[in-house]
Amino acid sequence: MDVSAALAELYQLQEEDLELDRLQQEMERVPPELAELRARWEHRIDELTELKERLRGVQKEYERNDLELKDLTQKRSQAQEEQLQASSSREATQYENRIQQLSTRIDELTELTMPLVEEMERLEAEIDALEQELAALKPELERLEAENTQRVQAIREQYEARLAERQKMAKAIPPQILREYEVIRRARKGLGVARMTKAGEAFRCQACSVQLPTHVAQKVYQGKRVIRCPSCGRILWRGA
Ligand SMILES: [Zn+2]
Repeated sequence: MDVSAALAELYQLQEEDLELDRLQQEMERVPPELAELRARWEHRIDELTELKERLRGVQKEYERNDLELKDLTQKRSQAQEEQLQASSSREATQYENRIQQLSTRIDELTELTMPLVEEMERLEAEIDALEQELAALKPELERLEAENTQRVQAIREQYEARLAERQKMAKAIPPQILREYEVIRRARKGLGVARMTKAGEAFRCQACSVQLPTHVAQKVYQGKRVIRCPSCGRILWRGA
C-alpha cells in the first residue's frame, strides 16, 4: 500500500475518531436542569451540615451549664440541710452566706442558659425546614439523575459500537503511520491528519491554513512517505 492510500484510510479513520470525541463529550455533558438542581442540592446540604454543627456546639454548651447547675443546686441543698444542723448563729450565718453565693451563681448561670434553649429551638426549626426542602427536592433530582443515566447509557452503546468499527478500520493502516497520527492527535487535541488544499497556485494545510512551500506540496503529491505540515506538524494528505 502506498502512503497516499494509507492516508486516505487514515483520513476516514479520523472522521470516526472525531465522531467518537463528540460522543464522549456528549456523555460528559450534564443537562443544565440537572446541573442546576445538583448545585442547589449540594448548597442545601452544606447549609444543613453547618446548622447541625452549630446546634451541636450550642447543645454542648447547654449540657455543660446544665451539669454545673445540677452540681450547684445539689451543693445548695446540702448547705441548706447543714444550716439546719448549725450549732451556733455564727455558723448559721456562714451557711447563709454560702447559700446566697450559690443562689447568685445559679441565677447567673440560669440567665446564660435560657437563650441557649431558644437558640437550640431556632436551629432545630431551621434544620427541620431544610430537611423538608431537601425531601421535596429529592424525587425531582432522582428523576433527572435516572434520565441522565439512561441518556449516557444510550450514547455509550453507540460509542462502543463505533469504537469496534474504528478498531477494524485501524487494522488496514500501517502501524507506524497510525502511531504517528495518534501522537499528533493527542498533542493537537483533535486533528492528526489534514488535507492539503489548492487555491490558485497556492497549497495550504487545511488544519492551520499555512501556505506550504512548493517542495513540501510536491512530496505530499508524490505520496512516497509521510510528510508533515512544517507549521502545525500534522500529517498532510493530498486528498482523493
Ligand atoms: Zn498545518
